[in-house]
Amino acid sequence: MRTPVIAGNWKMHKTVDEAIRFVAALRETELPGNVETVICAPFLALPALVGEVQGTRIGVGAQNVHEKNEGAYTGEISVPMLRAAGVKYVIIGHSERRTYFAETDETVNQKVKAALGGGLVPIVCVGEVLEERESGKTKEVVQHQVKQGLNGLSPEAVAGVIIAYEPVWAIGTGKASTAEDAEEVISFIRKTVADLFGQQAAGQVRIQYGGSVKPENISTYIAQPNIDGALVGGASLQPESFSKLVQAAA
Ligand code: PGA
Repeated sequence: MRTPVIAGNWKMHKTVDEAIRFVAALRETELPGNVETVICAPFLALPALVGEVQGTRIGVGAQNVHEKNEGAYTGEISVPMLRAAGVKYVIIGHSERRTYFAETDETVNQKVKAALGGGLVPIVCVGEVLEERESGKTKEVVQHQVKQGLNGLSPEAVAGVIIAYEPVWAIGTGKASTAEDAEEVISFIRKTVADLFGQQAAGQVRIQYGGSVKPENISTYIAQPNIDGALVGGASLQPESFSKLVQAAA
């Protein structure tokens, strides 16, 4: 069975002190042992967070990474740097990065390869925009993103990837996908992985839903057979609501 994973994506929120206070408050709550719990924070807060989560079940992730290990890339952070800081996960290809920072399926693929090669677990984001949904292109779009994003990986590598299906129209809008619609797309993504990498990889790869997930709706997603947790933005910023999300996924 696949272990559900709840990952908070703080985006560009929280100073180092705020991050430390968040974990202190989260540690006061009961976190279930059968849910993988991850906080993806801004780069600056990562070393402090890694220290704060010592002795807990919480893992720490970045929100982006450069595909090269080192070099003349002003402003960038590499996989070995994250690993050396104790970071275990990295979000790759979030729709905000695709929209505002010109990331493409090609750069996503390079970053996924770099992350896996360096021992980070990539959380690879895919999802359609509203216009694509309304014109019936959702499956075509996510199939393309999955195919390109995971291109060239071995089935064993794919089994260790986390895919986050995040319909772009549902991110930060309060208009979450219904659990049934999310399940339909996510089971299609799993079938796509099966066609490309075989049944075993498809059975092991974890696929999250993301987009306006809240403590009030998380259980509807978790109840679906193919949804293995959630990538959560807004509702991950308060320790109380994040803790509730993790508890509901148990
Ligand atoms: P949201 O963001 O939960 O605030 O909709 C999700 C995401 O961007 O990962």
